[in-house]
Amino acid sequence: MSQSPTRDDFDRYMVPNYSPQQTIPVRGEGSRLWDQDGREYIDFAGGIAVNALGHCHPALVSALKEQADKVWHLSNVYTNEPALALAKSLVERSFADKAYFCSSGGEANEAAFKLARRWAYDNVGAHKDKIISFRQSFHGRTLFTVSVGGQPKYSEGFGPIPGRIEHAVYNDLDSVRALIDDETCAVVVEPMQGEGGVVPADPDFLSGLRTLCDAHQALLVFDEVQSGVGRSGHLYAYMHYGVTPDILTSAKALGGGFPIGAMLTTDRVAPSLAVGTHGSTYGGNPLACAVALAAVETIDTPEVLEGVMHRHALFKEHLEAINREYDIFKEVRGLGLLLGAEMAPAYAGRAKEILPLAMEEGLMALVAGPNVLRMAPSLVISEAEVREGMARLERAVARFVQDA
Ligand SMILES: *Cc1c(COP(=O)(O)O)cnc(C)c1O
Repeated sequence: MSQSPTRDDFDRYMVPNYSPQQTIPVRGEGSRLWDQDGREYIDFAGGIAVNALGHCHPALVSALKEQADKVWHLSNVYTNEPALALAKSLVERSFADKAYFCSSGGEANEAAFKLARRWAYDNVGAHKDKIISFRQSFHGRTLFTVSVGGQPKYSEGFGPIPGRIEHAVYNDLDSVRALIDDETCAVVVEPMQGEGGVVPADPDFLSGLRTLCDAHQALLVFDEVQSGVGRSGHLYAYMHYGVTPDILTSAKALGGGFPIGAMLTTDRVAPSLAVGTHGSTYGGNPLACAVALAAVETIDTPEVLEGVMHRHALFKEHLEAINREYDIFKEVRGLGLLLGAEMAPAYAGRAKEILPLAMEEGLMALVAGPNVLRMAPSLVISEAEVREGMARLERAVARFVQDA
């Protein structure tokens, strides 16, 4: 038998930018995973809001296998059937007229921010280059996207960073009014902040941003990398709010576990990404697009989307029951199946300590910042798995509170 890799190999061979849990999962099916020793886990983490149909969903596996026997890659010198089919599907299901494909959320945002600046440059002038985003926001890890992101710790030490980016306060329209002017080319916002602590936007805030952008001829960019593709109970969260952006970025759940990103926009804006202005070698990769098409078609159905609403209520019910018993959370919030439980003041900053305890009990979960326990399970997780996962979480919480 050949020797299996171990967690020690991570420290030995990999750049130390992550600190993964000790366990190495080797196989997944639906909302369950198994590690090297055959121990089973319930997955409330979903690969950080990626595995929207769980692990190895039959529709995605068959789309991948079918495409694997046809053609894997062509570059952008040629187009391909899966990319065209996915673009058509996304356009028909959304506000968008045009799609651009890449391989990650950060890359989709990079394209969105470049497009916003280029559109303003083409239509108004080079001085209209200011981007407004929000504190605590997260838009990716490229230098441009961390700079637009509202968490300075992620861009610290990587300067000089791109200029003319200003940060307002999330859900505070007055703070945007104070910054926006005719040199603003874009306002960039997550309809629900994910990494920043699972904070849904107030409806008036998003509609107010739309009005401010229109008044200043600025583009409204929704980063739906985490909130998109069914997570909110709608295909995209903008549909929940009834506020339409000019540019929307999507990734994470879009590929259900296969790397893909997309930027969607309108016929008014798209022409500024003219031939030669932007690109990505892997963008529109046939394998990625075939899987994403299967994911979108499976998720954007009444059964799955209504099921998200139902499961949201179930998750909330259980988290609130745990809270009644242990008084550990200050608030449980979120939309659809992106849920955050903010720690009570007595446990401030300690959300992360629950994760290894949960793993010992057989449950995978996430945090969003130091103070919020986050869950982003499969959109089709079974009720029985929710109940069993919550029983495991409760045992972890009991141990956490006891040791605290
Ligand atoms: C995860 C995330 C990104 C970055 O996506 P990557 O695929 O890691 O580049 C961008 N925006 C939001 C809102 C995200 O949650």
